[in-house]
Amino acid sequence: MSEEIKRRHPFEVHCSSCGAPIVWFRTRAGKKMPVDASSVEPNDAEHQLDLSRHISHFSSCPKADKHRKSRGKP
Ligand SMILES: [Zn+2]
Repeated sequence: MSEEIKRRHPFEVHCSSCGAPIVWFRTRAGKKMPVDASSVEPNDAEHQLDLSRHISHFSSCPKADKHRKSRGKP
């Protein structure tokens, strides 16, 4: 079994903070959440968020601080 094919999700984008490949999912609450593209299957749809296998980029982003700070401090 060789799984050396790089997963490429059709909705893959890059994190604006760290540049990592991410895919935006929608939570049950209707909010959007970035997920590490490496944890996403190519056929996962945006409403199929499953945190038992998807890794939230909010927790893995090395620059997660920027995601939370919407107000810039001088
Ligand atoms: Zn990031």
